[in-house]
Amino acid sequence: MIDASNAEGRGAPVYSLVIPIFNEEAVLPLLVRRITALIDTLDASAEAIFVDDGSRDTSVIFLRGMAAGDPRFKLIELSRNFGHQIAITAGMDAAAGDAVIVMDADLQDPPEVVHDLIAKWKEGYEIVYARRVKREGESLLKRLTASLFYRVLEQMTSVTIPRDVGDFRLVGRKALETFKRMPERDRFVRGMFGWMGFKQAAVAFERPVRAAGETKYPFWKMVRLAVHGIVSFSDKPLRLALWAGLAVSGIAALLGVFAVFSWLFETGVVHGWTSTVVIISFLSGINLFMTGVIGLYVGGIHAEVKRRPLYVIDRLTGFEEAIAAMSGDEATRGRPPASRERRFG
Ligand code: UDP
Ligand code: MG
Repeated sequence: MIDASNAEGRGAPVYSLVIPIFNEEAVLPLLVRRITALIDTLDASAEAIFVDDGSRDTSVIFLRGMAAGDPRFKLIELSRNFGHQIAITAGMDAAAGDAVIVMDADLQDPPEVVHDLIAKWKEGYEIVYARRVKREGESLLKRLTASLFYRVLEQMTSVTIPRDVGDFRLVGRKALETFKRMPERDRFVRGMFGWMGFKQAAVAFERPVRAAGETKYPFWKMVRLAVHGIVSFSDKPLRLALWAGLAVSGIAALLGVFAVFSWLFETGVVHGWTSTVVIISFLSGINLFMTGVIGLYVGGIHAEVKRRPLYVIDRLTGFEEAIAAMSGDEATRGRPPASRERRFG
């Protein structure tokens, strides 16, 4: 059983909802209504932290008003669009609750499911993820690619990343503190929670359609997320280079033997050209592909060694008490402790 009075002892809410926002003006009024209804029915105090990920519409104006008028609502404005995974990270860094729930803004992660997540958490699970059993109204392409992605990822990675699970989940304080100690840039949040272990459980839900607005995950963004997921959790593509190289050398050796025999027995004299071209283009293809794979990892290393902060906060609303305590550290995650700087103001 979890002691739900922990956070309240520190004057903090028990539950923190973290909601990334990128150009969601169409859905915000409805979202806020549903979130308020949710908070009212929870069994303990809660805060809702909205993270504006550099929206270019009126989302921010709406949210500032909300955060200024209701102490349960808080707003973190990032200085530009940092991407969904980083926005989630910024919100989790600021969460004060004993249980942190991450959910999408478009109500595809239904607020009511949060009750089920909390029930599981109270049974003693540190991480409770919501598994989509049905995806309504998403295009066939999206469903196919999503399903392919989860299956490829399962094959390629050594950590268990649960299937059909997005970022809709509840994490307890222990998991949250572990997460905060993971400074990697290339953030694939669901993989990071898979990696850390702890007692994990799933809650099933049917994923409805987006309540309003359009997806902020166009096809190419999903491909990028998929590649990041694989590259940051698997070195199989690198090892593939070894086996592909071996296989190609084997084939080349056989072709060599064949060439010698053809020359010895003078069968069909001048068809050397075709085979040469085939071999050369095949080999350069493999070469280029593998260079690309290595490039992905080298690029990852390059991004890590720069040790830049993960995100930059432009403005906070509703964090009055927390701001003093944060004193800039949390705003610039991922730096070595000695060189932390104040970043927001
Ligand atoms: N999002 C974000 N930054 C981005 C893209 C998306 O914070 O660069 C947020 C978005 O506002 C939403 C969540 O991430 O709350 C999931 O995005 P979306 O619903 O568009 O993705 P989908 O459900 O279509 O995969
Ligand atoms: Mg969505």
